[in-house]
Amino acid sequence: MKKNRSVTVIGAGMAGLSAAYELHRAGWQVTVLEARGRVGGRVFSMHNFSNGLIAEGGAEFIDKDHTRMLGFAKEFHLPLGEVGSWQGQADDWDAYEGKAGNSNDTNIWGFDLGKEVDSIWTALAELSKQVPDPQHPESAPNAKELDQQSAADWINRQAAHPLARMAFADHIRSEYTCEPENFSLLDLARNSAMYYSKPGLYEPTYRVIGGNDQIPRAIASVLPDLRLNAEVTSINDQTDGVTVTYKQGNSFQTISSSFAILAIPLTTARLIEFNPPLPQAHQRMVNEISYGAVTKVMIEYRKRFWKAKGWNGRLSTDQQIVLTWEATSHIQSEHGILTAYTGGGPGAKLSALSDQERINLAVSVIEKIFPGSSDLIENTATIAWINEPYSRCSYMALAPGQVTSHWQTLFAPAGHLYFAGEHATIYQGFMEGAAESGQRAAQNIIGITS
Ligand SMILES: Cc1cc2nc3c(=O)[nH]c(=O)nc-3n(C[C@H](O)[C@H](O)[C@H](O)COP(=O)(O)OP(=O)(O)OC[C@H]3O[C@@H](n4cnc5c(N)ncnc54)[C@H](O)[C@@H]3O)c2cc1C
Repeated sequence: MKKNRSVTVIGAGMAGLSAAYELHRAGWQVTVLEARGRVGGRVFSMHNFSNGLIAEGGAEFIDKDHTRMLGFAKEFHLPLGEVGSWQGQADDWDAYEGKAGNSNDTNIWGFDLGKEVDSIWTALAELSKQVPDPQHPESAPNAKELDQQSAADWINRQAAHPLARMAFADHIRSEYTCEPENFSLLDLARNSAMYYSKPGLYEPTYRVIGGNDQIPRAIASVLPDLRLNAEVTSINDQTDGVTVTYKQGNSFQTISSSFAILAIPLTTARLIEFNPPLPQAHQRMVNEISYGAVTKVMIEYRKRFWKAKGWNGRLSTDQQIVLTWEATSHIQSEHGILTAYTGGGPGAKLSALSDQERINLAVSVIEKIFPGSSDLIENTATIAWINEPYSRCSYMALAPGQVTSHWQTLFAPAGHLYFAGEHATIYQGFMEGAAESGQRAAQNIIGITS
């Protein structure tokens, strides 16, 4: 095996594929090892619906400034459909304490719930000032003090109405897929410095029409050596390169290369044997970094009944499913799909149910708020990401203390091994971040040798 200018990329999600594509275009010899029988990882478009409808089981929204993902869509001629803003829209509804309706409807809530929630967003924009450089939260003036606190500590200090605080806690569960108690206030401040420093700025987002998974599949189609059903079990870092062992069927194979890029979630990296052991800081990072939990239930209705009610499908609720939205809002069709997206503690609870129990629960919550809706159901599907053996997580959610302990290690190589993935980027938890981390790992390797 020729090792000169060669890289083994472990994992064919957006991080691994972006790294491999970058190296391949630079003339390097690249082999991608992927444990699943498909590429894309946490980008997983589900086709279980009628009339060619698709819903995203994993990553769904591509932001306006996600230039790498938008660039891939353009390069591979994949059409995009515009979705409303992730942060909030005028016809969003809430369902709390047995009431349901538009969050600004004072007749329902007895006060302007939307305005109360907005006051928390304004406070969040203020909090963002505490992290002047979101690429280096560990260097913020009060980094340690903020990192010792949780998002829950901060929410509890807000003067807003208790229902508004509950709605904001749901935002943490949905966006970071962890309980507010388990999310570092420093990382909340860092994320707000990245995205929420201007309250009320509602940016459009996109989905790829026909499924986001077309992006990873398009990249994979131009890579010359991608091996599916190849689960990496050990990595040997030697003086002149790396030898990676993987299991394919019943046999173990090895491959040697100058460098390797580990582009898998740390939850599955924990199962890999490293020889020699990783440096202490990396081993701690792999073992300790916290991840969230999330489930999706997709319900296809024969009619988009929500339109007639002046509701766009987005619902924040104190019920077990936490959040819903319309998965088909970017296309024209008679049938429509609602996704119930449940992160954090409720997501972990729903992951313990059988698929059918989880679907039944989501259907019954929506039926209670919109009586008769279940008569319109055509198809359903669900996925619980912590149960997926090659994910075991939703995405990284740094717990109190973890930003200051691990931030720098997330970006540092260990010998010939480079780390990539949605965790190893400032755009954590996004496809864009995974792509950025992969491209950066590839460029770092190219940079060493040029
Ligand atoms: C429900 C959900 C909703 C999301 N919504 C959004 C969204 O709206 N917008 C957005 O931008 N992002 C979203 N994300 C996040 C996004 O999916 C991820 O940030 C991104 O896809 C991660 O890419 P990755 O390459 O880092 O990891 P992955 O996609 O997990 O890829 C890692 C690959 O490694 C493989 N692998 C694992 N272990 C091994 C092993 N031992 N050997 C070989 N291969 C292995 C896996 O099978 C997988 O294919 C969402 C994620 C989830 C779960």
